[in-house]
Parts: sequence; C-alpha cells; structure tokens
Amino acid sequence: MDDFKLVNDSLGHIAGDEMIGIIAGRLHESMRGGDTVARMGGDEFVIISSILPSAEAAVSIMSKAASRMIERVSQPLTLQGVEIRTSCSVGIALYPRDGVSSDVLLKSADSAMYHAKSQGRGTFQFFSDQLNEQSMALMSLSSDIKRGLEEDEFELHYQPKVDLKSNEIVGAEALIRWQHPERGMVSPGEFIEVAERMGLICAIGDWTLHEACRQIKAWEEAGMVPPRVSVNMSAIQIHQEDVPGKVRKLLEDYQLKSERLELEIVEGVLVEDMEATSTKLRDIRDLGVHISIDDYGTGYSSLSYMKSFPVDTLKVDRCFIIDICTDKADRAIVDSTIILAHNLNMAVISEGVEEAEQAELLRDMGCDQMQGYYFSRPLPAKDFAALYAKSQSTEIIPG
Ligand code: C2E
Ligand code: MG
Ligand code: MG
Repeated sequence: MDDFKLVNDSLGHIAGDEMIGIIAGRLHESMRGGDTVARMGGDEFVIISSILPSAEAAVSIMSKAASRMIERVSQPLTLQGVEIRTSCSVGIALYPRDGVSSDVLLKSADSAMYHAKSQGRGTFQFFSDQLNEQSMALMSLSSDIKRGLEEDEFELHYQPKVDLKSNEIVGAEALIRWQHPERGMVSPGEFIEVAERMGLICAIGDWTLHEACRQIKAWEEAGMVPPRVSVNMSAIQIHQEDVPGKVRKLLEDYQLKSERLELEIVEGVLVEDMEATSTKLRDIRDLGVHISIDDYGTGYSSLSYMKSFPVDTLKVDRCFIIDICTDKADRAIVDSTIILAHNLNMAVISEGVEEAEQAELLRDMGCDQMQGYYFSRPLPAKDFAALYAKSQSTEIIPG
C-alpha cells in the first residue's frame, strides 16, 4: 500500500487494522477464483496467480489484473467517519523466468514493486524490462481501442462473395477497419488479437454486429435488396456471451429478415465446451441465421465436428488456394473438402482467390462460391452497394 503509515499515524492502529481488512477484501475481489491473496506483514500483500498458459498470456492477464486491483484499491473508503483515498503499487514476477524458488521470486516481485513505487503511486511494474515494454504496448493499444470505440473510429468494409456458377454476388463479408486519427487505416490483424487478450473483443463484436445490421437496414431503406452479410465472431464472444439472444434482439430492433445475416466462426470454437457451443449454434441457426466455418483446414477440422455441428458453409482457408493451380496436395485437400461438405449438405466457399485460373479450377471442382481480390477487395459500404447494383444488371466475370 502506498501510504498506510500516514493513516496509521493520523487515525490510529484500530483504523489502520480496519483499513487492512478492507483492502484485503478488495484485493480478493479483484482476483480470479483459485488465486491466493496473502498478507505478508505490515502493509504488504502477496498474490499468487497460478494458472497462466504462457509468458505472453501472463503479460496481458497480469497487466489487466494489476490495473483492476489498483483501481479497486483506489476507491474511497470511510474510516471512523473520515473519507480516505489510498492507492497501491504492484510488482509482478513470473515463474520461472524471474526466479525458480519462492525466495527469489518474492525478491524479484519486491524489487519490481519498489520500481513501481518510484514511478509514482498507483502503478504496476513487471520485474523484467522486456515484459514491461510488452505490457506498456498492450495497455496503450487497449486504451486506444477503447477510445476509438467511443469516438466512433471503426468502420466495416464489405467483400463480395461470388457464386461460381452464376457469377452473381450472393453475399458479403463485413471486415472491420480502424480509421485511426494518427495511424490512418489500421487493419484487424493489428488489433483483434490484442482486443481478445485485453478483454475488449466483446465490445468490438457488439459494435460490429450492430453496425452490420444498421448497414443492411440502411441499404434496404435505400431500395436495395442486399445479399446475406456475414460477420466474424470471435471465439471468446461465442463462448462468453448469449450470442443467440443478442442476434435475436438485433434482428427485432432493426426489423431484419434473419436470412440477411450470417456468422463466421473459426474451427477452434467447436472444440471447446462442445455441448454448450452446439446448443448456441443451433439456437442461432433456428433463428434462420447462417453459420460458416472460417479458415477451414487450419484448425482442428475433425470430421466428427462437421457431423455434429449445425453449419451451412465451409470457408476453405486461403492457404490452400494460393498454390492450388500447381500444388497437387492442396488441390486434393480442396477437392475432398468439397465432396465432404456437399455430402453433408454444406456449401463451400474459397477465400483469397486472386487469379482467374484459380477461379476456373475451383468452378470445375464444384466449389460453390469464391471470395478474393480477383473479384474485389473489401470495399466501403457505398462502393460495395454500387458494385452490387452493377453486378445485378451485367455479368461481371466471363463465364
Ligand atoms: P478472415 O475472416 O479470414 O477474413 C479474410 C481476410 O482475408 C480479410 O483480411 C480479407 O481482406 C483478406 N482477403 C480477402 N481476399 C483476399 C485475397 O484475395 N488475397 C489476400 N491476400 N487476402 C484476402 P482482413 O480484413 O485484414 O481481416 C483479417 C482477419 O481479421 C479476418 O480474417 C478475421 O479473422 C479478423 N476480423 C476482421 N474483421 C473482424 C471483425 O469484425 N470481428 C472479428 N472478431 N474479427 C474480424
Ligand atoms: Mg471471415
Ligand atoms: Mg478466413
């Protein structure tokens, strides 16, 4: 704690004891179940957080935990009728990199804590400078994302999905873009993963779903009959939230037909908590909303999942398409995926189609749809609508 002595000296030991009790409770509340909170004496606490999957995950988990803890401890408290604000400084050491015995680990944490104190009150520091840098980058990107959401800096671009038989645009994938005031256009590859690690992905996912529905409605109101729009859903959001409930409410709020919407999820989603996931996907599909498996072939792609999950479309990952014209193995994989999917009543779309030869080959192989730069890059809503209108009056690709 940053200024316990002050309280002890001015309000007395009984108030000091009371304060220790309150702070202990707050620390306990700000940690996860399974963590250990202990008072080591005086105004020093030690917390053991034991289930961290990797050093990388530890940086984001502990940065979040320490910020939460500092915020919680800094809330005002009343001691003997006097309102007091206190704060704490946190030092973080990681096993095994900062010590393999409890002694050394505690020393490292202690030294990190003094480093934090020297930086001013109410901050945290890792023992390792390298982790401090990573943590600072994570914290600053995540506060930037929060700010970006508040300031409405995100937008969706739409990439056409094209039917390989009719050459018509039959869908669009909504892809998030960040119009950053200083960095310009930031692609999702630079912030989605951090948002997932820092607990911001559900906020982004909510925004994306809302924005896609708003756009579909706006297109309808402008007299367009928009194709089905797919939205990427993070595994975290599927697992943590009532996605079926959210989608139902959105369709109601925006007065949309459910056939206008599709959710893209990655294979990994299917492996975790299979029963609950299967129920959720079924509920989504019962609404009439389509589900596709994104980046198919890069994850676990077990055939048994394909059998037991309610899925409309497999999206074959771009990595199998890049060399499909020259690589026999890639061609064989895509070929058998198409046969498998069709036998299970699923459609197949290939992503990342960049060349005419790839499109030709995929058409010959019986692939249903394609998406990729060959036909069009992801476009701002206005440009997508224009392309869509044009494609409905003329055939764009020579058949
Ligand atoms: P994804 O869902 O697999 O999206 C396809 C990515 O491939 C997009 O990148 C798209 O612009 C790119 N792409 C499409 N055609 C081609 C092509 O012919 N060649 C090449 N080289 N690339 C092509 P983008 O927009 O940068 O998105 C990357 C990933 O970020 C997406 O992969 C998706 O996993 C994630 N993402 C995008 N928007 C959202 C979102 O709103 N929510 C969530 N949770 N994730 C999103
Ligand atoms: Mg996708
Ligand atoms: Mg994909």
